[in-house]
Amino acid sequence: MLNIVIFGAPGSGKGTQSQRMVDKYGLNHISTGDVLRAEIRNGTELGQTAKGYIDQGQLIPDELMIDILASVLDGFRDSKGVIFDGFPRTIAQAEALKKMLAERGQEVSVMIDLDVPEEELMSRLIRRGIDSGRADDNEETIRKRLAVYHSQTAPLIGWFKDENKYHHIEGMGSMEEISAKIVEAIDRL
Ligand code: ATP
Ligand code: MG
Repeated sequence: MLNIVIFGAPGSGKGTQSQRMVDKYGLNHISTGDVLRAEIRNGTELGQTAKGYIDQGQLIPDELMIDILASVLDGFRDSKGVIFDGFPRTIAQAEALKKMLAERGQEVSVMIDLDVPEEELMSRLIRRGIDSGRADDNEETIRKRLAVYHSQTAPLIGWFKDENKYHHIEGMGSMEEISAKIVEAIDRL
């Protein structure tokens, strides 16, 4: 089983690289952002709650996010492994993931940190906002998301280093160059 955490700030390319790894290794993919956006599109109660946080650039509360993750994971019984994209985003989520996987006799194989300079993140997200119309890809909300990333999510770098799961990847370069570095890290496991 390959359980890969794709990590990085907003706009670091987690979604793009996850899709490439799904195609290459036949893994299941959980993108918590995509799950939440689908709930919003479908007008569910969960979607309404999530929208309030997302539009403010804030994280969805941990208990809620952990329940959502557990139910998606339960849907993948006989999988070859999972790419976790956008989860965990807090230490509490990382601890919950560790416990959930342990209950299934599994663990995270590697955490891949896509490291991209802040100016590049900003310009990618502004560009994405123009193309995709994502409501949280506007300058003010992007700044809030980057601040939330630094205060709540970046501490996971140290957490995964302590677990001996951390793998740093320089996230500047073409999609192909970055994928090649990720594949190299996975194939070394
Ligand atoms: P990327 O561009 O690298 O794919 P992103 O940060 O732009 O990443 P998503 O991962 O799609 O975007 O997340 C969008 C929003 O959904 C977050 O800003 C947050 O409000 C909410 N969200 C997603 N995952 C989580 C999580 N694990 N915990 C709490 N909130 C989450
Ligand atoms: Mg994404």
